[in-house]
Parts: sequence; C-alpha cells; structure tokens
Amino acid sequence: MKSPKADVIVVGGGLAGLTAARRLSELNIRVVILESSDEVGGRLATIRIGNGWADAGAQFFTVRAPEFEQMVGQWLAGGLVFEWSRGWSNGSPASSLPDSYPRYAAYGGFGTFARRLAKGMDIQYSIRVVGISHTDNEWKLSDNTGQLWHSTGIILTPPVSQTLGLLDAATVWLPAKERYLLEAITYAPCLCGLFEIDGAPSLPEPGVVQRPAAPITWIADNRRKGVSSGASVVTVHASPWESRRRYSMTKQVVLEWMLKEVQPWLPRGGRVGNAQLVRWPYAIPETLYPGRCLAGNWPGPMALAGDAFDGPRMEGAVLSGMAAADALFERL
Ligand SMILES: Cc1cc2nc3c(=O)[nH]c(=O)nc-3n(C[C@H](O)[C@H](O)[C@H](O)COP(=O)(O)OP(=O)(O)OC[C@H]3O[C@@H](n4cnc5c(N)ncnc54)[C@H](O)[C@@H]3O)c2cc1C
Repeated sequence: MKSPKADVIVVGGGLAGLTAARRLSELNIRVVILESSDEVGGRLATIRIGNGWADAGAQFFTVRAPEFEQMVGQWLAGGLVFEWSRGWSNGSPASSLPDSYPRYAAYGGFGTFARRLAKGMDIQYSIRVVGISHTDNEWKLSDNTGQLWHSTGIILTPPVSQTLGLLDAATVWLPAKERYLLEAITYAPCLCGLFEIDGAPSLPEPGVVQRPAAPITWIADNRRKGVSSGASVVTVHASPWESRRRYSMTKQVVLEWMLKEVQPWLPRGGRVGNAQLVRWPYAIPETLYPGRCLAGNWPGPMALAGDAFDGPRMEGAVLSGMAAADALFERL
C-alpha cells in the first residue's frame, strides 16, 4: 500500500492545529491533520455526564488582537459563538459587578465548536505520531499503527514538552537558543470535576463563580450556559497549586474534596448523581515562547505552534496557528 502524502501534515487537532490547517487550505495547500484522540479540540472538550453535558477544558474566551477580533466576528455571524458575559462574580455577597470586556462561549459547548471548525478538513483520528524523520527531501512521520505519512512541511502543535520528545526521537536539531527557550516552557495542570446534580446551583449571573486566588478557581453551571439542556451539570476547576498537589490522588478523594469546597453553591439537600474527574496535565502554559510560532528549515520546512507561543489561552492558540501556517507557506 502506498503511504499517504500531503503538502503539509499538522500534528494535533486542537485549536492551533485546526486554525493552521484551515489557513493553509485557503492557500490551496493539501493538508492532513493527524490527531491522537478520536475527537478534535484537544483542550476544547465537551463531555457527556449522566443526562447532561459539560465543558471540561476551556470555559470562555476573550479577544485582544484585531486579527482575532475579525475571526470572532465571523464566528458570531456564523452562529458558532455568543457573548456570554462581561465579567464574573467572585461569589461574595459584595461581589464585583461585571466589568466591560466581553467573554464568549460556544453554542453547544467548545467540543461542538471544535467539530464545527473542523468541518471539511482531512483529519485522521486516533493517529498518534510517534516518530519523525527527514530523508529524500521530505518529512516522514510514523504513527502508532505503523503507518508512514509523507509531507513537504510539518506543523507540530502538541504541548511543547511532547513536541520536544518527538523531535528528540527524530534527532531533529533545533538551534540551541530556540531549544533553550522551548525547554523553559512549563504548563500548570488542572483538575476538573464534573457533577450532575438535582436542582439548580445557586451561582450568580450568568451561572458562574470565578475566584483566581482560591483553591477552587472556577464553578460554572452548564445548563445556564446552554451546554446541557438535559440535566444540571456543574464544572469545577481546582487552582494550579491545588491541582499539582492533588494530581495523583484517587478520583474519589479529589471529587469529595471538590464537592465540599463547592457546597455553598449547591442546592440544599440536592443529590449529586454522576461525577467525573478530568485530569489535564498540560492545562495552561506558565512560561511562554517569545513569538507567535517557531519556524525554520531543520532540515525541512517545519513550524511549532500552540498556546505556549502567543498566550496561554484560546486566542493565543488561534494566533499561533495562523502565524505557523503563514511562516510555513513561505518555506514550501
Ligand atoms: C481546564 C482548562 C481550562 C481552560 N480555560 C480556558 C479559558 O477559560 N479560556 C481560554 O482562553 N483558554 C482556556 N484554556 C486553555 C485553552 O484550552 C488552550 O489555550 C487551547 O485550547 C490550546 O490549544 P492548542 O491547539 O494549542 O493545544 P491542544 O488543545 O492541547 O491541542 C493539541 C492537540 O495535539 C494532539 N496531540 C498531542 N500529541 C500528539 C501526537 N503525538 N500525535 C497526534 N496528535 C497529538 C492532542 O490530542 C490535542 O488534540 C483552558 C485549558 C484547560 C485545560
């Protein structure tokens, strides 16, 4: 059987990978996305829990750069996203009023959003890239099934430590300065609890409490967000510090701790049905690469992208994916 060949292979179908692939397709480049999971989205994930659904990864996004604002304008016009709020309460009675800038969420949750962005793209699911080499003027990527994928250029979007692991195995030598900057990138983990509950949680408008300095930083009602029509499901995020400290504890211990912490916002006597714990090992980059992407010929056209390159958030992933696509296009 002949091995598949593309102009560009994008490793990873998260937001950075999807954005890069879309941009290259618009430039008439043949792109294949190889995604290790059976879903697109990466850290954009909407998970089934009991009779409901919950956003387990990214919860909302903000807009800073004009390029991103333009893209968000298209998403708004296309009915993919909506303005959810202009600020969050910290849960105290004297809670701050919403401030001025918009926070956006996705209709049906961010998993649905990612699937809608991916529409029409060539995505190969459950394909984990395990090896990279460059011979005869082309990249060769081997995957977990033993298949070999060929391309002229590659864009790598997994969390940076995973990408470095792939490149080490490939003996691809990045310039020493770049290597040093990439090795300095770390990610905070996040423990995410999802709880299906009887009755409505007593969370302030729009069904959210955010407390960046507390052990639990985020509590959100997915029903009020419009993600879960079938049941009340609450998303709970632990702080980076608590997530690190409790990361290896059993699911039961973590969920019991979370439930105790969020008790004031749950309906009195309300039964908790299904509960699930999602462990995100690379949730939010803590140290960033000083640039929107890293691109070069090492030895063929390649680019590294993701939220560690432009900002630890959805906007950063999008802008990085766009920058990587443009930088690679110039090198093809
Ligand atoms: C709990 C949590 C809460 C967050 N909250 C917010 C928020 O409210 N607002 C906000 O703006 N941002 C938030 N973020 C951050 C946001 O989700 C990320 O910035 C963004 O989704 C990152 O996209 P990415 O494409 O760079 O990376 P990822 O989404 O991590 O995508 C990388 C992809 O590569 C795939 N992959 C990895 N290795 C391989 C391999 N070897 N072969 C093939 N595929 C591979 C992965 O499966 C994944 O799909 C949150 C993140 C988490 C985890």
